[in-house]
Amino acid sequence: MIPFPESIIACPDCDLLQRIPTLTPGGTASCLRCGHTLASSKPDSLDRTLALTVAALIALIIANVMPLMGLSAVGRQAVTTILGGVLKLWQQGHQITAVLVAFCTVVAPTVHIGFTLTVLLAVRQTPAPIWVGTLLRMADFNQPWAMLEVMMLGILVALIKIADLATVIPGVGMFAVGALIMLIAAMTVSFDKHQVWSQIRWVDGEGQQLTSSPEFKEPAEGEVEGKETPGELTGIKMGLVLCEGCGLLTKPTDLEKPGHCPRCGQELELRRPNSIQRTWALLIAASICYIPANLLPVMSTTTPTYAEKDTIMSGVVLLYVHGSWPLALIVFVASVVIPMAKIVALAYLLISVQCRFMRSKEERIRLYRLVEIVGRWSMLDVFVVTFVVALVQLQPLMSVGPGAGVVFFAAVVVLTMLAAETFDPRLIWDSRNNKEEQNDEIC
Ligand SMILES: [Zn+2]
Ligand SMILES: [Zn+2]
Repeated sequence: MIPFPESIIACPDCDLLQRIPTLTPGGTASCLRCGHTLASSKPDSLDRTLALTVAALIALIIANVMPLMGLSAVGRQAVTTILGGVLKLWQQGHQITAVLVAFCTVVAPTVHIGFTLTVLLAVRQTPAPIWVGTLLRMADFNQPWAMLEVMMLGILVALIKIADLATVIPGVGMFAVGALIMLIAAMTVSFDKHQVWSQIRWVDGEGQQLTSSPEFKEPAEGEVEGKETPGELTGIKMGLVLCEGCGLLTKPTDLEKPGHCPRCGQELELRRPNSIQRTWALLIAASICYIPANLLPVMSTTTPTYAEKDTIMSGVVLLYVHGSWPLALIVFVASVVIPMAKIVALAYLLISVQCRFMRSKEERIRLYRLVEIVGRWSMLDVFVVTFVVALVQLQPLMSVGPGAGVVFFAAVVVLTMLAAETFDPRLIWDSRNNKEEQNDEIC
C-alpha cells in the first residue's frame, strides 16, 4: 500500500485525477470535469473555527434550555422547548418520530459541535492522536442529519397555523436557534479539514514515515494526469483508491481487496459497495411509504364540538385558505414535490448508470447534488406537526395530536436521504472510462 502526496487528488464525485496547485489565500480549486470543490485555502482556519464553535456551543445550550415559544389562549399559557416537543410526540405514542426529531434537532447538532470542538482543541498539539481522526469522520457523517434550519422553518409554519387560535410569543430559545444556524454555517465555511488531517498521527505509522521521508517525491508533471489523454485519467484506471473518510489517495497492492486507509483506518472501496442495488432497495421502500404518507392524516384536531383529521395536502389547502399562500407553497414544495422529485431523480440516475448513458453527465451530476442538498428540507412537515402538537394542548377546549401519516412521511425522508448517500456519483462517469469496451448505450 503506497500513499500518494496530498497535492494529487481523485475527485470524489467523478474520480478524475488532478494536481492541486498552490492556492492563494482564500482561493479554491475545482474539478476540471465536474466542478466539485477539491481544495480551498482558508487562512487562520483552525483558530477562527474554534472561536465560532465555542460561540455555537453557548447558543446550543441556550437553544435547548430556554423556551422556543409560548402560547396564550383563553387565559391558558403553554410554552415549549425543543425536547418538550419531542416528549409530547413520545407521550402520544409516536416514539419512532420522536426519536428521529430528537436526533435531527438535538443529538446531531450536539455531536457535530461537541466533536468539532474536541478535534480543534486536540490538534493544537501535533501530531494529534489517532482518535481525533475518528471523531472528525463521525462529525462529518453526522452533519447532513443536523436539521436546525429546517426545524426553524417548521416552527415558523407552526406559528402561522396556531396564530388563528391563540397569541403566540417567540421565546429566547428561538433567537438562539437562529444564531446557532448562522454559527454552524460559518463553522462549515471556515473549517479546513485538510489541515486537520495533515496534523493527525496515522493509523499506519510506516505510511506516515514514508510520506515524510526525503525519498518520497511527487510524481512528475504528466505522470499522473496522463500524457496521451490529459484530463481523462481516473483513479480506477491507475489503480488508485480515494479514502472517503479523509481524502487520502493510495495505491493498494490488490484492487479487489484494497484494505484500510493508512491514515484514518477506514475501509477502502473503489466504489461504494453494491451502490446500485442498495439505492434501488431504499428507493422502492421510500416509494411504498410515500403512499400512506400522503393518504393518512398527519395531524388530528379535537374540540368539544368537532374532530378533524388533516393530511399533508389538506394542511396545505388550509394554509392557503388562511391567506398565507407563500407558506402553503413552501410546505407543498417541501412535503409533496421534493420527496416525489427525489425518488424520480434517483431512479433516473440509477437507470442512466445501468444503461451506461453517455450523454449529459454534467447535468446528471448537478441533478445528484441538487437531490443531496434539497432532500433534508422534506422534514419540514414532521417539525410542523411536532411543534403544533407540543403547543396546542388546551384540554378540554382543544387539542392536536399527531396522525399515523407522520411516521411514514418521516420514513420517506430518511430512506431517500440514505438512498442519496448510498448512490456513488462516480458511477455516472465510469461509462466514459470504459468507452473503449462500451461504444454505445445499452438501453
Ligand atoms: Zn470531478
Ligand atoms: Zn482515510
